[in-house]
Amino acid sequence: MRIIYSVIIFLSFFISAHAQAPAQNVFIITLDGTRWQELFKGADESMLHNPDYVKDSSLMLQQYGQGDAEERRRRLMPFFWTVLASQGQLMGNRDLNSKVNVSNLYRISYAGYSEIFTGFADKIFIPNLAVNNRRLNVLQWLNKQSAYQGKVAAFCSWNILPFVLNEKHGTLPVNGGYEMMEDDDSTSALINNVQQTIVSKGNTRHDLLTFECAKNYLQQHHPKVMYLGLGETDEFAHEHAYDTYLQKIHQADAMIAELWYAVQTDPFYKNNTTFIITTDHGRGNKNSTWSTHGFWVKGSGQTWLAMLGAGIVPDGESNKQQQLYQKQIAATVAALLGVNFTASHSVAAALPLDTNLTSSKKNVAVKDR
Ligand SMILES: [Zn+2]
Repeated sequence: MRIIYSVIIFLSFFISAHAQAPAQNVFIITLDGTRWQELFKGADESMLHNPDYVKDSSLMLQQYGQGDAEERRRRLMPFFWTVLASQGQLMGNRDLNSKVNVSNLYRISYAGYSEIFTGFADKIFIPNLAVNNRRLNVLQWLNKQSAYQGKVAAFCSWNILPFVLNEKHGTLPVNGGYEMMEDDDSTSALINNVQQTIVSKGNTRHDLLTFECAKNYLQQHHPKVMYLGLGETDEFAHEHAYDTYLQKIHQADAMIAELWYAVQTDPFYKNNTTFIITTDHGRGNKNSTWSTHGFWVKGSGQTWLAMLGAGIVPDGESNKQQQLYQKQIAATVAALLGVNFTASHSVAAALPLDTNLTSSKKNVAVKDR
């Protein structure tokens, strides 16, 4: 009997030690303007029936509209609701009182990305334009630390993100919009050829190209901190295309699955890498407002957060009554790596990673929402 107890004690110690092993690499992934409603409840059936938002309702209903919320969300985001739900954490299901919010007033992309990476909800309004952010972000800061110098990289679909991340400051490489890859390997050459052939280039690059850029860079250079910013979800939502918005969410889930597989089959990253996945803002919470977001649109401040990998307790979908904020992510990225991000502006406290987030209320001294 004593042997059995010893084995149980050893196993439980091993499992908890394994789950909370510190990260050596952190990847931040964002899905622009993707609502918590679709993540946690799957496709909205009433929207699938609406010809203003969906071109072929019967096909979309067949793909994403069957069953209860749990089945619908699994159909929409199979990686999230299999691997991530069993091995990671998902916060922001407001039906379970788990809340994640932006702290900034504006609820648009520039403000959201700035808050995620600087850990600070800037009161100064910067519209979604090519204006350099004066605030220090955690990626820039890490790239200045000797352990991470030259080991931080960002790839994003939106061509304004290099300005939000202050690439011109010269301390962080950001590949944004239809920017060419600088490497001269055959995959980079292929990506660049494809990018050159795209005739009408908007502000947001095809996410698949951004993803291929990031994946190839990962394989060639093994960055320790990488940001992948996907943007098409927001683009199609603004066009009222609920069908394409769903397809882009589904595609993002598949890309994250592929990236996780690449990480877990690479000895450099295996079991020492953490994914933090989130969005820059929510959207309207009604069928009449879902396509838009901003200061006046109710629901725009509601976001979500998912974490998977080293240092993350596998608690699955959170049903804890809690309030988390987007601005906590910057310090969390640093904390996962065992360092403390500081800047001339205030930086919100990291999420409490060594618990199942029940104590998060105590740790967040914020009253701005
Ligand atoms: Zn938008």
